[in-house]
Amino acid sequence: MEPIPLRTLTLLLNYERAVSDPRFVGMRLLESTEADPSLPRRLVKSDGIHEHFKGGPDTIEVFFELCPPDQRLSVQMTSERPILIDMSPRSVIKFSINGPFLHVVTSTPKVTGGAGDSHIMTTGSKDSEDHGVLAFPCPGRKDKQQFVVDMTRMEYGEVGRGTYGENYFLGTLEGYMNSMRGVCVDPERVNTWDACCTALGGETETRMKTCAKRVWERWQNRDSEGWCEHCGKGGKELKRCRGCRMAKIWWCCREHQLAGWSLHKHTCERRTD
Ligand SMILES: [Zn+2]
Ligand SMILES: [Zn+2]
Repeated sequence: MEPIPLRTLTLLLNYERAVSDPRFVGMRLLESTEADPSLPRRLVKSDGIHEHFKGGPDTIEVFFELCPPDQRLSVQMTSERPILIDMSPRSVIKFSINGPFLHVVTSTPKVTGGAGDSHIMTTGSKDSEDHGVLAFPCPGRKDKQQFVVDMTRMEYGEVGRGTYGENYFLGTLEGYMNSMRGVCVDPERVNTWDACCTALGGETETRMKTCAKRVWERWQNRDSEGWCEHCGKGGKELKRCRGCRMAKIWWCCREHQLAGWSLHKHTCERRTD
């Protein structure tokens, strides 16, 4: 059974989450957040984006429930050989994000045929916000180093992007904590517990399950239906990376090809380095 790259899983889950929420219809995906320094910080009331984007670890947990128990994952930061890990053991690490630097304001336009109203959503507007990441022990490491995946760092805007401009973070726990210095004043590690799916209930849980199922199907159909390596979008308009002959790497637009290159250049078959 082919291991699922943790990057791919995160990319597709984030994509499906964004497109499944009626409030996001018409919003330009992934390039939609915008920090406006002229706005007074921490004054605007949140209109739900935090609620939507929180629960990153829960979304992955819901996905894991669909996988056979021996499904493995692969972790690759740049061009090194992918490291294979099991789905378990894993844990959720919970933090308080204190004094986020960026107050992110996202607006969705009013779209004909969409959900109706336009929305203005904010994150980083509270002095302290809960945050959770999923962590896997690095195999063969005695120093207790862990791989961390944070699906929802993009709620802190550009500073929340991953090392190569991804809309999530994938890396070691140490690297994660270091990079959080660019996101907030003081990330305070609260506690760690064994991963388990919290009962979310209602609409959020239904939506998460739908997203997870959709991602599982997309993974199963990966040979016939690709996705944009930068945003996760599928469809017939995708263009293949001309540098890759064996690997099927796709881009949905020129903009995402350029944005995704800082990561893909490490594995592109036409590597220039
Ligand atoms: Zn794209
Ligand atoms: Zn390529």
